[in-house]
This record gives sequence, structure tokens and C-alpha cells, in this order.
Amino acid sequence: MTGIIFDMDGVLYRGNTLIEGALEIVEFLKERGIPFIFLTNNSTKTAEMYREKLLRLGIDVKEEQIITSGYATARYLRKHFKKGRVFVIGGRGLIEEIRNIGWEIIWPEEAGEKWRDIDYVVVGLDTGLTYEKLKYATLAIRNGAEFIGTNPDTTYPSEEGIVPGAGSIIAALKVATEREPLIIGKPYEPVWEIIREKLNEKEIWVVGDRLDTDIAFAKRIKAKAIMVLTGVNGIQDVEKSEIKPDLILPSIKELLDYLRIS
Ligand SMILES: [Mg+2]
Repeated sequence: MTGIIFDMDGVLYRGNTLIEGALEIVEFLKERGIPFIFLTNNSTKTAEMYREKLLRLGIDVKEEQIITSGYATARYLRKHFKKGRVFVIGGRGLIEEIRNIGWEIIWPEEAGEKWRDIDYVVVGLDTGLTYEKLKYATLAIRNGAEFIGTNPDTTYPSEEGIVPGAGSIIAALKVATEREPLIIGKPYEPVWEIIREKLNEKEIWVVGDRLDTDIAFAKRIKAKAIMVLTGVNGIQDVEKSEIKPDLILPSIKELLDYLRIS
């Protein structure tokens, strides 16, 4: 059977507006018993917060069906690294995921005294970023702490225009530390290992709106790459890019028609 991975923003909704066909496709998949998960590179919210957002839009899925890069990062840490003290540059979602695996967090307020004790610096999008946070993250990484990023997105679209994403914060630390981070989210493979714990189908489809994350990820994991044009990238971007989707559809609505006949 086929398992489907959906990106959320630009695929199922835009901001707080549901994209036509999103509700129907989820109902269709549930009816047919086709396994799927929702995957986002955003680490600022927890899966529970996403479930509530989706529910407000009318989409009812289980919390276990939602994977954020924050969740994947925490799970990956627990699976591959020794328990240690973590300094987080990130939002509430990422902090809660680190707490959920039971690892100690060293807070920015105590970092002045404790930065030498930091074993892991975990970096996601942090709208409360300060120079102090960058400073202690840099000191800790230069002191030997592991440098881990949730996702590489350098920017993301907001109502005011294009604004800096997690990748821009990670870039600042790369320059300051002269080190390369381990990045967990799309298009990289660590998140795939975490998805596999929940979605173990032989054939996988990835549905997304971004070439550099969603479609590149699909290619890397040898999944069928389906691009919808309701988000960040358009046809012109596909023409210019070396990353080519296997299928391009105007929106998720046409994917539902495609599923019905296939
Ligand atoms: Mg998207």
C-alpha cells in the first residue's frame, strides 16, 4: 500500500485559510484506510498545537499523525545521542519537545554561569532571538557542544513579506563557530528515520509546495514527488530548478481526483 506525507502550509492551508480540497482528501484517505502523516519543518509549535489549528479549520487528525521538525529533532537526539544538557534557541514547540524526552534544558538566564556544561545546542526558529542567545550558543559549540538544527529554511513567507527562518539563525552560528550543524528536517534524512517509526509503507508519496525542502526530500528518500502550486513555488521556479517533481498539480483538489482514479 501507499503511504502519503503531506506538507501543511501552502498545501492544506495558507495562514488561517483552508485550501479547497484539503478537508475532502483527508476524509477520503480515512475512508479508504490509506496511511498518511502531516510533516512540517516548523518547530515553533507542538503537534498538539497543530492538531488544534487543524481542528479549527475542520480537519480532524490524531496528534500522532503530525510530525514537526521539533518533534523529529527530540526523537532523533534520544535515539542517537547520550542524554545531556541542552541549550535551545527556538520557540515553545521545540522547548516542549526537548522536555518531553526528559533532557535537562539550560536556560538563557543561567547560561552565563552554565554554558560550559552545555552538551547540545539545538537551533530552530526563535522569534525572541537575542545577542545573548547567539553568544552562549557560540561559546558552547566552540567548547565542544554538538550543533544541531531543526530545519534549513532560510526564509518563510509572512503577511508582511519574506522574513528570516531557522536557517538564517543557523547560518549566523555557522559563521561564528566555523562548524557545520547536523540538520534534522526536510530535505535531510534524519527526519525520514523518525517518519519511518509511524509510516512504514513500501511506496511513499510526498506532497509539498517547496522545491528545496519538500520535493528535494521526496527525491532523496526515493518517494513520488508531487508538487502543488498553492504555496511558495510556481511553474517558473520548476523550470529554473534542477529539482523536478514527478507530478505537478494546481492544488490538492486535483490530487483527490488523481487518487480516485488510481
Ligand atoms: Mg509548505
